[in-house]
Amino acid sequence: TQAFSFRRTLLRTYATASSPNALVFLEHRQGVIDSGSLSALTAAGQLGGQVTGLVLGGSDEVKVIIETAKKLQGLSSVLHSSSPQYTIPLPETVSPLLEKLLSEGSPFTHVISAHSSLAKSILPRVAAKLDVPAVSDITSVEHDASSNSTTFTRPIYAGNAISTVRAPSSIPIKFFTVRSTAFSPAEFSEGAEAELKTLDPVQVSDSPSEHVSTSLTKSDRPELGVASRIVSGGRALKNAETFQSTLYPLADILGAAVGASRAAVDAGYADNSLQVGQTGKVVAPELYMALGISGAIQHLAGMKDSKLIVAVNKDPDAPIFQVADVGLVADLYEVVPELIEKLKR
Ligand code: FAD
Repeated sequence: TQAFSFRRTLLRTYATASSPNALVFLEHRQGVIDSGSLSALTAAGQLGGQVTGLVLGGSDEVKVIIETAKKLQGLSSVLHSSSPQYTIPLPETVSPLLEKLLSEGSPFTHVISAHSSLAKSILPRVAAKLDVPAVSDITSVEHDASSNSTTFTRPIYAGNAISTVRAPSSIPIKFFTVRSTAFSPAEFSEGAEAELKTLDPVQVSDSPSEHVSTSLTKSDRPELGVASRIVSGGRALKNAETFQSTLYPLADILGAAVGASRAAVDAGYADNSLQVGQTGKVVAPELYMALGISGAIQHLAGMKDSKLIVAVNKDPDAPIFQVADVGLVADLYEVVPELIEKLKR
């Protein structure tokens, strides 16, 4: 157990309340709340106190998000700040808003978000400004109201060890990002009606960065991060053409997302967004099929929590077989077409 030593430089009179009051950053895209934020909300609920959702945005799209957020189970209020600068939120524009919200007099005891690219850039910034630590990528959380301390677990060394981290009562606001595969997404309920509150934006006129463009990968397949089935290919897939012609028909028949090892991505067989692993996406689907993937620890770090792991590899000593529930020592070019035929039947 690693306890934070916290040098208090500011006197915060509001830090003594023991009942948690959590603020969850709800990210959204194209009119839909990100599933990672829904998992963060579940984690926030496990603290056992009040939970407020923060929604930012300046466009009409955000109205739908607010109405949707109000129906989220476990959310007592929705805090909305509207400004064109939040249409595409940037760490430089959002951080000052959070810093102001969480400064002297703030009721919030915990600030929570998904472990997303944006939030990973925002939360530590704000935490540093407030002179408190931020805990990242947590897989469990427990709050002890009597000592006003919160204990987290988080994977370290590419998931080979689990670290237990305790944030004691001396830390007035506890910041943490949540590994979405460790928490089921919060659900919606027609009966729920969170209260809507507005928050004045903080205009940032001298942001050192600006949004230029967004390019999203378009795919008819399920999104890798939330898919319940994934068919993943490695270096054995030879090239981009074989990768597609071998894996895609299998993925389509299973209604699965497609994933890839870093070797396959680096060799240009698959898009970077498909990479699973330590430096790619962390997934935990019901079914993970690893085809022609050796099972390097960096790959396992991204998929070993999958419910059912099926591996096909020519090498009986491939490390992937150590984590596979079903392993087939075979040539994937024989197995995959046969499997597709059987599934069709
Ligand atoms: P290989 O290791 O080359 O394995 C190919 C496998 O295919 C072999 O086991 C072989 O027996 C099998 N094979 C060959 N032909 C056939 C056939 N016809 N039928 C069946 N099987 C066949 N890797 C990731 O995947 N994700 C990450 O996020 C990641 N992050 C990394 C971060 C760092 C800092 C570092 C150093 C490495 C990282 N790696 C990551 C790379 C990782 O170490 C491995 O190099 C990579 O995962 C190997 O990919 P692979 O299994 O596709 O290739």
